[in-house]
Amino acid sequence: MHFSRNAAPNSPDDEGAVMNFGFDETEQEFQNAIRRFALERMLPEYASWERGRELTRAWTSEIAELGLTGLRVPEQYGGVGASYVMAGIAAEELARGDLNMTFYIQLSAIAAELIGGHGSNELKSRLLPQLASGETLLAFALTEPGAGSDAAAITTRAVHEDDTWVITGEKASISFAGVADQTIVFARMSKDGQEGLGALIVPMDSPGVSVRVYDGVGEKFSKRGSVMFDEVRVARGQQLGEIGSGFIQAMKAFDFNRAIIALTSIGAAQQSLDETVAYARERKTFGKPLAMHQGYAFQIAEHSAHLETARLVAYKTLWLADHGLPHTKEAAMAKWLGPKCAAEAIHACMILNGWMGYDEALAHGQRLRDVIGFEIGDGTPEIMKSVIARQVFGREFASHK
Ligand SMILES: Cc1cc2nc3c(=O)[nH]c(=O)nc-3n(C[C@H](O)[C@H](O)[C@H](O)COP(=O)(O)OP(=O)(O)OC[C@H]3O[C@@H](n4cnc5c(N)ncnc54)[C@H](O)[C@@H]3O)c2cc1C
Repeated sequence: MHFSRNAAPNSPDDEGAVMNFGFDETEQEFQNAIRRFALERMLPEYASWERGRELTRAWTSEIAELGLTGLRVPEQYGGVGASYVMAGIAAEELARGDLNMTFYIQLSAIAAELIGGHGSNELKSRLLPQLASGETLLAFALTEPGAGSDAAAITTRAVHEDDTWVITGEKASISFAGVADQTIVFARMSKDGQEGLGALIVPMDSPGVSVRVYDGVGEKFSKRGSVMFDEVRVARGQQLGEIGSGFIQAMKAFDFNRAIIALTSIGAAQQSLDETVAYARERKTFGKPLAMHQGYAFQIAEHSAHLETARLVAYKTLWLADHGLPHTKEAAMAKWLGPKCAAEAIHACMILNGWMGYDEALAHGQRLRDVIGFEIGDGTPEIMKSVIARQVFGREFASHK
């Protein structure tokens, strides 16, 4: 996607720059391929995760073979080295079949960014190829029972002893807790406040690690749960970046992933809308197709417009990230609007399909349960609005730092 081919937006040189909101040929081919895969392979299986099906390595390998676990892993480490926009396309299209599958994209892209950006050469050459091939699944453990929105208040501690870090604490609501091989753990490694936070990679089979998987309202595929660390020892080499960089690492990962979450939600909602449009062309009431009743058609029009607005800000976020430009505000806008507009659109689709919309035979109910999780994960609407407000008014007006 090219918002401006010739110059950075708002630069003095961009007068007359070409504005092109389309995808280029490679992006279109990729979009078509992932959409086909999602609708043919994923959609028929979507409900199975809700009904107790377990995630297998064969399934992960199938996703990895498409390059989806290695999108943000550089080519030299066996990945695809795709742009952020391409990662967004993958998430939006995959979500049409099964939005849970985008956890592979989200968590592997976050891990690739953090390991690629802050890991030692040894960590990069050991873990990035495993990430790309799907051999290892990495979770991202920041939230704690006492610290979610206020992430800098985490209390999990890592204490330095000889050549090891000893970690004690509890993480809450961690996606992939029940299936990950390793997890990135944010811990307090020295003093209080943001300056004392750092990140470590911990194998989930380390002595002292235990997991409790939740019974979530949706997104059961992700095996979200609590991870407990009872004096867990990891080598010093498992540390990502300097002590004090942990909070910044986490926030940077959030920025692009917020747009990925938005596109995940939008893809799922667009599929619900498309299915409802097909139904409304065929189904007749009062002698004509539902599509010809204005009260019905206008709802489709409104949700189409909302989704398109959210989609644009999400792709703009990713485009800014690809160009190394600030995108915190746009990421928060996308993360607020995407899941919100998606949940509203899917809710409407349940009603616009009559009694069948309220039946598990159609996917709308499950999509709604799943999308609501994305309204909370990676930052709630209230926190997204406070991020936007902080950017609009300036940090000196922020209610918290
Ligand atoms: C599906 C899902 C997946 C997740 N995956 C992960 C994961 O992989 N890794 C991970 O680390 N975490 C994960 N989380 C946790 C998620 O990031 C947190 O739940 C989220 O950041 C909110 O934190 P909290 O639940 O502690 O709520 P709290 O911070 O306690 O907030 C409770 C409510 O108060 C509101 N609130 C808080 N502060 C303010 C304020 N200043 N002004 C106004 N309102 C406020 C919030 O918006 C929210 O509505 C996931 C959550 C979900 C639901």
